[in-house]
Amino acid sequence: MATQQKSISGLHHVTAITADAQKNIDFYCGVLGLRLVKLTVNFDDPGSYHLYYGDELGHPGTILTFFAWPGAYRGRIGPPQVTVTAFAVPSGALDYWSKRLKEQGVAAQPAIARFGEPALSFADPDGMQLEIVASPDPKGQPWAAGPIPAAQAIRGFHGITISEEGYEHTAKLLTDVMGFKAVSNEQNRFRYRAGTGDGFASIVDLVCIPDAPHGSMGAGAVHHVAFRAKDDAEQIAWHKDIASRGFNISPVMDRVYFHSIYYREPGGVLFEIATDNPGFTADEPAEKFGTKLMLPPWLESNRTLIERAVPPVRLPAQHTSAASRG
Ligand code: ZN
Repeated sequence: MATQQKSISGLHHVTAITADAQKNIDFYCGVLGLRLVKLTVNFDDPGSYHLYYGDELGHPGTILTFFAWPGAYRGRIGPPQVTVTAFAVPSGALDYWSKRLKEQGVAAQPAIARFGEPALSFADPDGMQLEIVASPDPKGQPWAAGPIPAAQAIRGFHGITISEEGYEHTAKLLTDVMGFKAVSNEQNRFRYRAGTGDGFASIVDLVCIPDAPHGSMGAGAVHHVAFRAKDDAEQIAWHKDIASRGFNISPVMDRVYFHSIYYREPGGVLFEIATDNPGFTADEPAEKFGTKLMLPPWLESNRTLIERAVPPVRLPAQHTSAASRG
């Protein structure tokens, strides 16, 4: 290869589907203590919400987003999909979480150790599969006004699990193109770590389950996973590189808070590369995050119509209607 291999530095965000925006907000902000970083609409479907959760400042690697499709059927979790999304908490915080989830009526499986790291597994109200993993020194800045003490708070992602019928071609994309390093394997689980990452939001586990029923898109299912590019120049380089390897890849899309390119990995999961810039302060200061419905400039003239189309929601920061009617 003439070009020197670049490396993805970690996850940028994970996007999933919810059937109920209010239950989603109550769970992620109220139970898990993530900050609602942005309330906006799906730019490709402006009659529905797009919810963004993250840490205090919405750092890449902490962002979990949902398309809210009211009354959507449950998806089926199965290959080829991101089947588990794992959050990182400081070492020693799992007992706290085990107790908290129980108090909040969330059924969690007892802690298991995977590659030596203890983890709790549970599901959100739509059935999305989540884990909380104890990690040494996780990054991310907990939501200061949130319900979880800083010492125990979620710091962002630990990583994701992708389930596939077979894993070799996906593994090759991760290691030979995206610069991930193979770490280890436990039975049918193969672990990869983002090459230049500092260990934060850097884990991709491939689980090979050829016999499992196929997943289907719907509430509780992950729609896609995004990896980080530090800026637009790096993203353009990725675009060229990935296209030259035989993948169809979208042109750069303006998502206001980042710029995105999309491609499907060989197993069928939708991958995105999103830029760190311009970030969630592009349209409001951090202290205002999640306090009102934000629209991109090209939808602002349709605000009244959009506010009528989306259901009103109670927001964690102000406990008022998102749509701020009238
Ligand atoms: Zn995305």
